[in-house]
Amino acid sequence: MKHEFDIIIVGAGTAGMACAIEASSNGATVALIDKADKIGGSMHWSGGHMSAGGTQLQKRNNIDDSIEDHYRDILNINGGSGDLTLIKKAVHEAPVTLDWLDDNGFDWAADCPRIIYGHVPYTKARTQYGSNKAISILETMMPHWEKGIASSRIHCMLSTEFVSFKENEESVLITCKQKDAIIELSAKHAVLTTGGYGSNHEFFKTKHGDIPYNSSTYPTSTGEMIQYLEKDHHIHFRMADLHLPSLGGLELEPGSNRSNFNEAWAMVLTSVYRQPRDIYVNVHGKRFMAEDEINADTREREVTKQDNWQFWVVFDENGLTALDDNGIQNSIIIGWTIDQIKAEAAKNKAIFVKDSIEELAQVTGLPSDALHNTIEDFNICVDKQEDLAFGRTYLQHKIETGPFYAVKVHASLLVTFGGVSVDHLLRLKTTEGKSYKRVYAAGEILGLGATSGNAFCSGMAITPALSFGRLLGRYLCEVDMSLAKQYS
Ligand SMILES: Cc1cc2nc3c(=O)[nH]c(=O)nc-3n(C[C@H](O)[C@H](O)[C@H](O)COP(=O)(O)OP(=O)(O)OC[C@H]3O[C@@H](n4cnc5c(N)ncnc54)[C@H](O)[C@@H]3O)c2cc1C
Repeated sequence: MKHEFDIIIVGAGTAGMACAIEASSNGATVALIDKADKIGGSMHWSGGHMSAGGTQLQKRNNIDDSIEDHYRDILNINGGSGDLTLIKKAVHEAPVTLDWLDDNGFDWAADCPRIIYGHVPYTKARTQYGSNKAISILETMMPHWEKGIASSRIHCMLSTEFVSFKENEESVLITCKQKDAIIELSAKHAVLTTGGYGSNHEFFKTKHGDIPYNSSTYPTSTGEMIQYLEKDHHIHFRMADLHLPSLGGLELEPGSNRSNFNEAWAMVLTSVYRQPRDIYVNVHGKRFMAEDEINADTREREVTKQDNWQFWVVFDENGLTALDDNGIQNSIIIGWTIDQIKAEAAKNKAIFVKDSIEELAQVTGLPSDALHNTIEDFNICVDKQEDLAFGRTYLQHKIETGPFYAVKVHASLLVTFGGVSVDHLLRLKTTEGKSYKRVYAAGEILGLGATSGNAFCSGMAITPALSFGRLLGRYLCEVDMSLAKQYS
């Protein structure tokens, strides 16, 4: 039996839901298929930090910002890398997306818009997010989604595997599988929004070689669609060379190669938020950077120069309990209490504690003499108030009073940078440069490298996912042709 729709969307996550809501509210009939048993995709885990210049929220907060300033900042941060056509489209559409959320009662967090230092900062307070991370976005979408379902304009098939597509002159045919039943769908257009590939180590290796792998990406980000597109449709894969990991994941289950961003994440991204009472050592027991470096990009790149893209944060009991100069306790693990850290340390899995440096070296596998010398040298720096080797200036705490702690921190994936190639209309592009006529893609399937370049520009994953999804929803209903616009 064949089912006919205006648009078929594969992937009912961030970009897919945004597309379906726009298209259905403009009168289209939309079918979504998703392999998962629930809608929402990465929004269930994402930090939901969005960025846009010139939003209503910024204006209400007297922040003078613009699309042009946003674009300029991105190019300054990423050195002009990425797909500039897509970056321009994304920044032009970003305020429209955020204003839509605003008009629909979005619960903005009290402290935003703000400048975020967890990535290289923008020059304006431009990062904007909800009080419940990306769940706030999902919650704002839900009434529109439910309206689409109630009007039968949105037809959502969960636990449904995508099998293949075929583009004809007049339509796209999609074959999918639900339990053992094969279902054929037909539509004027198809939009592929299946996300990234960060939860598929084997596939990741084929694109990035044997670089150290630790992932915090949503479990459904497994990239089967990308593999299918490359193999069966010769779609060009690009931007993998722009890859960067994030800091700093804790692998609570050693050997799992997984860190959960929302569960256990070390506060090592930038010292703007926490004065370091600790030192970072690599697997050789040696320091490798100024722990109070504020530039997040510099820190991330320093860690990728270390073996296994991994390091240890070492401190003593005083370092665990001391307050910052502003009187804040500021835990090394985001959101964790001292008692939680001690309880985890007692397990000797991701955090280790011992009464002496020698025992700490033994349990972590760090070379004892090197660790000892490193700590001794650091304590001399504190005495002299001078760190000639690395230039650290915050030198308030020696590491001298046991017990001694070591937290094993991994550079971890939050998003994947590689993705499929599209033209300025977001239509799939082959390795020969030919565009498909009826098959489009949006979201992380395009790769973070496309919209953020070789850097983490705040909000430049989830905002383009939402914006391109929405834009396609309108464009494919022919109510908004701005997707076709090439910005100069
Ligand atoms: C922990 C974390 C924090 C983040 N924080 C931020 C942030 O603060 N700011 C920011 O800009 N970005 C952030 N990101 C990234 C951002 O959230 C994602 O890039 C974005 O949400 C991806 O949207 P998407 O629609 O492309 O994919 P998703 O939202 O992941 O949706 C993809 C959907 O496709 C389905 N699917 C996959 N393969 C198939 C298939 N073969 N057949 C059928 N269905 C399939 C999946 O089940 C899923 O529902 C974060 C990501 C993570 C993991």
